[in-house]
Amino acid sequence: QHQQPVTIVGLGPMGRAMAGAYLDRGHQVTVWNRTPSKADDLVARGATRTATIEEALGINELVILSLTDYDAMYAILEPVTSALSGRVLVNLTSDTPLKAREAAAWAERHGAVHLTGGVQSPPSGIGAPESSTFYSGPAEAFEAHAETLQVISGTDYRGTDPGLAALMYQVQMDVFWTAMLSSLHAFAVADAHGITAEDVLPHLSATLASVPDFLAFYAPRIAEGHHPGDVDRLAMGVASIDHVVHTATDAGVDATLPAAVLEVFRRGIAAGHADDSFTSLIEVLRKPAG
Ligand code: NDP
Repeated sequence: QHQQPVTIVGLGPMGRAMAGAYLDRGHQVTVWNRTPSKADDLVARGATRTATIEEALGINELVILSLTDYDAMYAILEPVTSALSGRVLVNLTSDTPLKAREAAAWAERHGAVHLTGGVQSPPSGIGAPESSTFYSGPAEAFEAHAETLQVISGTDYRGTDPGLAALMYQVQMDVFWTAMLSSLHAFAVADAHGITAEDVLPHLSATLASVPDFLAFYAPRIAEGHHPGDVDRLAMGVASIDHVVHTATDAGVDATLPAAVLEVFRRGIAAGHADDSFTSLIEVLRKPAG
């Protein structure tokens, strides 16, 4: 069976894992990276490293981009746009939906097709079918290359709007980074009292594991715009998060993150939601502070 050859541009931890997965599956892999030495191990495993980005673009129709952000993509590709014609750029670089839509139009102007991707897995999950990547952009291009893209992870095609995959990715990151930082904050507060991360871990994990049940309970109410204070009142919530802020500051720990939460809760109280649920804050979030 013919394995589609691929070009991979960008060899951070993600690009290197992707190139490795393709080599493992017997694909011909061409790589290019600003810092060429990051390809050394891949070349030893059979990848072809080109001296120039033009050569890397010229060899294969399918070009996978794995860069820090879209500015890095323009830094690499803007000087060589004449080499883009006929290429399918699978951009697994994360950035905003707006940037993805602009990039799709930019690619089209240069005769290329742009598929947006949002990889929902760390490097260790690359090559595993149970990992998942959001895709959006032209359906024909996605379908033509889906089998090859499934080497990276499972695929979840969201639609033709190039911004959709980026959007779906960013809403996950919205939760991921704030949850990760709030967990790190909890470790810092515990540590300030001589309580180790290992001691706190099972309890933090139990709290995080309870979140899906809360979300499942609240999601229909959020969808209906119905925010009764029958199980939680915002006035309770504001007192609770105020305790979190003071527990941190009393321990000499930075409280920027819980203070930001408190600020949003207070705006909800000011908007008259004291007797409504925490979920009424969605009305506050829809009217950003100036
Ligand atoms: P890195 O930021 O480590 O990858 C950086 C790559 O971008 C390198 O190849 C680097 O080249 C290149 N690069 C950055 N700036 C420029 C520039 N101005 N000009 C040329 N090349 C540039 O990222 P990762 O590999 O970790 O991730 C890649 C993408 O995948 C990111 O968008 C990330 O958000 C996303 N992602 C990452 C995950 C992870 O766990 N790491 C998980 C899910 C998604 P050089 O080597 O020369 O510096």
